[in-house]
Amino acid sequence: MTMLIATSWDDGLESDRRLLEILEKYQIRASFALTPQRHQTACVPNDIRDTAAYGWLMPLDGLKLYQPHDVCSHTTNHREQTLLAETQIYEDLYQSKLQLADMFQQEIFGLVWPYGCSNNTTKNVAQRVGYLYGRATANRLSWPWNLEFWDVVPLFWRTELSILLDLARPYVVLAGHTYELRKEADWEYLERFYREASQDSRCCLVTMTELVQTIQGNQQHEPSPRIQF
Ligand SMILES: [Zn+2]
Repeated sequence: MTMLIATSWDDGLESDRRLLEILEKYQIRASFALTPQRHQTACVPNDIRDTAAYGWLMPLDGLKLYQPHDVCSHTTNHREQTLLAETQIYEDLYQSKLQLADMFQQEIFGLVWPYGCSNNTTKNVAQRVGYLYGRATANRLSWPWNLEFWDVVPLFWRTELSILLDLARPYVVLAGHTYELRKEADWEYLERFYREASQDSRCCLVTMTELVQTIQGNQQHEPSPRIQF
C-alpha cells in the first residue's frame, strides 16, 4: 500500500517563501495553517515575545503565494481556544473559515489548533462550524495517531523518509514552522526530503485534507466487522 505523507506548515511566515519555491519546483502541494486577521501590509512579528525565535508573518500581498496549496484555518488570530468562552470559539473558528474561503476561493476543510490545544468543547464547535478535522502539534508522546480526526497528531517535519516508510500505518502527517529551519543545512535537508519523497514510488505526497478525505473514504468502504458467535 502506498504511504500517504501530508506535510503541513503553520502560521503563514515570511520565511515560507523559500519553502513555497521548493514545493513549486517539485510540483508538490502542502497544507498551510493561516490566521487571516494577523497579516498586515508590512511584515509583523509572529510572536512579540521573541521575534528572533518565531519569525515574521507574511505580509498581505504575499498571501497569494499559498493559493495553489491546501489552506487551513489556524483561527482568526491565534488565540488558545481552550481558554475561550464557547461563543468566542465559535466566532474565531467561523470567521477564519469564512475569511480564508473568501481570500482563496476554496473551501476550508482543515483546522490547526493554536498551541496544539483542543478539548471536547472546541472539537464540538469545530464540527458545528463545518470543519472536517483538527490538527494538534507534533508530540512524540501521543504518537501513534489513533486516526481521531479532531486531534490529528503529526510527526515533526524533520523525521527521515526511511522512518516514515517503515511505519505500520500508511498515513502520516508532518508538521512544523519554517522558523525552525535555522541553518542552510536544514533547508538542504528539507529540499532533499521533498525531492526524494516526490520520486519514490512507495509514497505519495498529499495535502492534509486529501489524507483525511482518503482515510474517511476508505473507512466508509470497509465492510463492517462480522459479529463472532
Ligand atoms: Zn501557530
